[in-house]
Amino acid sequence: MTIVPTPLKIYICNLNPSKVKEKKKEISRMATRHHSAPDKAIWKKSTSGTYTPSSFVIHCQSNIWASQPHWRQLWKGHAPPKIEVFTWQVLLGKVAVKHELFKRGLIDINTSFCTLCNAELETSSHLFFTCSVAWNIWMHNCSLWGLSWVHPGDATSFFVSWQNNKPPYGSPEIWHMLFFSTLWSIWLCRNEILFQGKHLDVNQLQDIILVRLAHWCKGKWPVNHIPASHFLFEPSRICINSRKCKTKVVCSWMRPPTGSFKLNVDGSALGKPGPTGIRGAIRDHESFIKGVFSTPIGMEDSNYAEFLAIKEGLSFFFSSPWASSTLHVESDSKNAITWASDHNSVPWRMKLLSNSIEAFKTSFKDLTFTHINREANALADGLAKAGAIRFNCFSSLF
Ligand SMILES: [Zn+2]
Repeated sequence: MTIVPTPLKIYICNLNPSKVKEKKKEISRMATRHHSAPDKAIWKKSTSGTYTPSSFVIHCQSNIWASQPHWRQLWKGHAPPKIEVFTWQVLLGKVAVKHELFKRGLIDINTSFCTLCNAELETSSHLFFTCSVAWNIWMHNCSLWGLSWVHPGDATSFFVSWQNNKPPYGSPEIWHMLFFSTLWSIWLCRNEILFQGKHLDVNQLQDIILVRLAHWCKGKWPVNHIPASHFLFEPSRICINSRKCKTKVVCSWMRPPTGSFKLNVDGSALGKPGPTGIRGAIRDHESFIKGVFSTPIGMEDSNYAEFLAIKEGLSFFFSSPWASSTLHVESDSKNAITWASDHNSVPWRMKLLSNSIEAFKTSFKDLTFTHINREANALADGLAKAGAIRFNCFSSLF
């Protein structure tokens, strides 16, 4: 069913009590004018309000990732999806190593010894991490980066330590990817020995790990100009710029035309969601500040805050002595400006806010919405950041 948010305070300043009462009634009437739409069932975990399997998966993942953040590191795309799934199975101890087959009664205990060293039982933890052969490979990897390594105890801790470690040279992305490449190469090597009768060649296995790393890197990032041999000899010196360069257009705040006013609004969330504040400032054509408001709104996300800032800014201006003048609203949130301009594009959970804004559109003489960059919205942006940690509301007209 649709959710009705708690009504927000209306800013009314410098008006006598009878005018205040009259304005409040008028705003309340406007805000409820568009509520005649019939109720309908809504899937709250998607912005469209429609159930989709992907929105369900994302919802479930967010709960898991909040309690076990290392799973987020696993699915970051540092390896092909198939290898991520394999690594996930290793961390859960669900790979079909010999000891697992023995536990299920499929093989005898005497044939459950490690394929690589033949000295201990082949458990998942042993094969990939504590086996003398595997451990030497991990040590070789670390030596390429000039690092020493201590096994933290179990597979998950090993993975978390590796992913959280910031290597002293090169790109962290290559270091993260090396974990997956090593794990997968050990597994394939073990299978070739077991099923194809090949002999263990540790030096060859170390090279295969780095060649595999080179191919994955070349497939993921534009590093074709780097020869694969560099990955064999100096992988720690390779730098990947995985972020595209962006050209930033900087422009400053512009005065509104003579006789009109400009309202700059902003919402700021310290987290997602987190403590949130909304702010706004009214300026005239001479750049004089005619009014400001600043309000904490509790735990919200930034999109909601940005959109609410527009609605509250309109309410603030409507209660001012200049309510009959032309108003230009500016925000550095593209979403909020799009939603304010087009009621049909608004996500279901913000429809009530949109209804209020639609009502204000019919009340103002002339009203425009413009998206601007953060630099041009500096005043409202600064007020918003300060307001996110404010504990009370503030508004004033000058
Ligand atoms: Zn072993």
